[in-house]
Amino acid sequence: MCIFCKIVDGEIPANKVLENEEFLAFHDINPIAPIHILIIPKVHVENFQSVSPELMAKMTPFIQQVAAELCLDKSGYRLVVNNGKDGGQEVPHLHFHLLGGARLKWTHLTEDETHKNL
Ligand code: 5GP
Ligand code: ZN
Repeated sequence: MCIFCKIVDGEIPANKVLENEEFLAFHDINPIAPIHILIIPKVHVENFQSVSPELMAKMTPFIQQVAAELCLDKSGYRLVVNNGKDGGQEVPHLHFHLLGGARLKWTHLTEDETHKNL
């Protein structure tokens, strides 16, 4: 069972923000912004590439609700999904990173010079 499935099952504790029957939001253990929440479906879905449109249709309003609960809906936030190896995905269970609570930097993510002007 993957680590996020264990959090869903209560085998591993998590600092929860919001949940319903199908989704769970909890604080990232290693935050990279003042507010760093992980939002997951309770069912095991490996990554964004394999999520069904039906599940995403329900996940979208849940993510919006989490942002509103944390008062990020007005101030703004960033939503990040790392998908697969090049995306830097470490936990193979679909999760959205909800980042906010400060003006976030937008910067180059590789050392590749050819992308510096993009
Ligand atoms: P990824 O690199 O897969 O997009 O992100 C995985 C995220 O999960 C990382 O930001 C990491 O800090 C977080 N994480 C890994 N294990 C745990 C855990 O056991 N509990 C919590 N709350 N976050 C975790
Ligand atoms: Zn899982």
